[in-house]
This record gives sequence, C-alpha cells and structure tokens, in this order.
Amino acid sequence: MEKTVSFQKNARNIFFHILTRCNLRCRHCYINPDQHGRQTLPVETIEKWLTALVHEEKASNLILIGGEPTLHPGLDSCIKAAKKMGYASITVDTNGFFFNRILDKVTPEELDYFSVGLDGSCEEVNALIRGKGSYGKCVAGIEKALSKGFKVSLIYTVSQLNVRDVKNMPSLLRTLGIDRFFIQVVGIRGKSAQDKEHSLQLTREQWVDVVPAVAADAARLGIHVSYPKVFLERSERFECAALVAENFFIFPNGRVYQCPLCEDFPLHSYVFEKNKLTPLPPINETDLFQLSIPEGCVMNKLVQPGNLNYDKQGKPRYKIACCLLKEEIKPVAATSR
Ligand code: SF4
Ligand code: SF4
Repeated sequence: MEKTVSFQKNARNIFFHILTRCNLRCRHCYINPDQHGRQTLPVETIEKWLTALVHEEKASNLILIGGEPTLHPGLDSCIKAAKKMGYASITVDTNGFFFNRILDKVTPEELDYFSVGLDGSCEEVNALIRGKGSYGKCVAGIEKALSKGFKVSLIYTVSQLNVRDVKNMPSLLRTLGIDRFFIQVVGIRGKSAQDKEHSLQLTREQWVDVVPAVAADAARLGIHVSYPKVFLERSERFECAALVAENFFIFPNGRVYQCPLCEDFPLHSYVFEKNKLTPLPPINETDLFQLSIPEGCVMNKLVQPGNLNYDKQGKPRYKIACCLLKEEIKPVAATSR
C-alpha cells in the first residue's frame, strides 16, 4: 500500500503493516514478503505493539496498512483499541474493497480517514496497474464509505503507465465528493525494483511538468492536495525525515524501519522482541541518516542512483529530497479566506 502521511518536523507517525496479504497485485506494490514477513498479526500482538509505540507526551498519528488491512478480521478491534490508547489520529490505507464489513463495524467517530488507493481515472488505466475490475469495486467502496459519513482521501501513484491520466483526477475527485488528494511518485522498491527493463519511474521533466499543475487544478476545485517534492534545487535545504521527525514503519515480522527506502534490506533500526521495541546494534539505517552528501538523500544514492544527474565538474545538478517530504496545497477557496 502507498503511504499517505507527509513528514512534518516533530511529527510522530506510526505506519503499522498488520499483514502483508492482499487481494490485488499492483504493479508498483512495495510489499516484499521475504523482508516483511507473511504472517497476519494477531489482534493481541497488534495491541501490545500499539501500546509500546504510543507516546504519553507526543501526539502520535497511526496509519493502519497492509497488504490490504481490511482483510484482517480484527481490524475493527485494532482501531477501537488505538482510539482508547489516545492516538491523535487513525487512518486506514486501503485498496477500497472494504472487506470483512469494516464499514459496518467502525464509526466515523472512531476513524479519521480511509485513504483509498486508485491509480486511474477510468477502468482502462487503473486496470493496467491494479488489475481488471478493481476500478469499479474501488469507486463503489468509496461511495459507500462516504454515504456512511466516513472521511475518504485518495492516493494516486504516478508512473509511466498513468502519467497522461493523472490530469483527469481532480474532476473525478470532485464528482465523488473527495476533498483530500495525495499524489505519490512510484518508487524503485518491491515489485517495481524487480522489473529492470520496464521502468515505471518518471523523469524529472515529467514530474515537474505534470504534477504541480494537476495539484493546482485540484486545489482550484476545493481539494486539499499533497505530493512529494522529489527534486530540490542545489540551493534548497535538504532534511532527512529520520533526523527531524519520528516515523516508524512496522512490519508483521517485527522489523521497524525509520526510512521507507531501507525496507527492501535488513537495515531496520529496531525489532519487536517479546513485544518490546528493541534497538538493533550498528550497522543499520540509523548510521546512514547522519551522512551528508551533495546529492541529498543517502539511501536514494545507494538504491536508485539512476535518478541523479551530474554536470561536467561532477557536481549533482539537483538534490533528491527525502521521500517523506511532501508539498501541501490547501484548497484555493480556503486559502483566500
Ligand atoms: S493494494 Fe496495496 S498492498 Fe495490495 S497489491 Fe496493491 S499496492 Fe500492494
Ligand atoms: S528517504 Fe532519505 S532522507 Fe528520507 S528518511 Fe530515508 S534516508 Fe532520510
């Protein structure tokens, strides 16, 4: 599942993958069962880990994610338990199939958002990425969730397969009545890293030409939009989220990462051992965050150096931003007030 919350300084976000199983096989899925595990965590374990992760003084945002989290028959119990523990916000990242009658088992008061993944404005485009028939199911699921009073946001992962389609999304969101839109960039992780011949990644020019304009269109229609910055000018300040915010990415095998780009490798900072969050000895991802390089993100240089570009003197032409850094555009009507 794609992740929806941006990094803000001092924010504390817990991305909890409660299982890795899914009914879909999306082309860009980053779930890697060899690294993340195949188990469905029991509700009791999830509750213990949630207790270990909640912070008494700092507001913690919880994102329940998978795989497809609504395939977990105890998702409703997890949401209710997290609410009682005092998580500041609770979001479920879903593919929109809403299994196990989850819409009947929780209330809009217990959940802040369903964040739904859709990668096309029509069946034809979405099917290229998420498979045949998933568009209709997802749209029907969104309509049902909205009719029950839930807040729904939509996440769209832009790749070579749908870069010409993303411009159609603002009007679809408006028609559906969705007021939050996350535009995500396809990463070289999980499945998209395995297909070396058919790169799904966008060029810098495509990203810069297309995404900010679509975001501005959506904002004009009253939609709150965020999208990753991806490229920074040389003069722009680079910050690694792992050093200025707290993000924890939890997987069913107990691994806890602070950086999504490390998730294909056994480089995690912590592990749950006997239900206790336990730091790992060096070398792990924490040792990499400190390194300061002119290319910006260290992990990007290690795992996807193809998106860097150098001038004749060997200096990088731009920096790669932290993949958790998002641009946020408030709806035009709201900002003009
Ligand atoms: S819905 Fe999410 S978890 Fe399932 S295959 Fe697609 S990206 Fe992966
Ligand atoms: S993506 Fe790069 S900048 Fe962001 S947390 Fe990971 S290492 Fe740090």
